[in-house]
Amino acid sequence: MKESPTNGPCPVCGGRKTAGKTTYSVDLGFGVVVVRNVPATVCRQCGEEWIGAEIASELERLVDEARQSRRQVEVVSL
Ligand SMILES: [Zn+2]
Repeated sequence: MKESPTNGPCPVCGGRKTAGKTTYSVDLGFGVVVVRNVPATVCRQCGEEWIGAEIASELERLVDEARQSRRQVEVVSL
């Protein structure tokens, strides 16, 4: 998942992008964090996903929290 401007065609396949939701997951080594209902821009053709800078920093914050709590599985919803 990458950050990208929401305008313009998909840089991967040239398809149309649409607003949607995605699930973000990250492996911290000792455990995993899963964030559901993440607002994202999704390519209708190839399924490539992008998230905005604000969402990215929110995810970063959640991952930091999970890292500190050291829970093996953290599932949250945005
Ligand atoms: Zn695409």
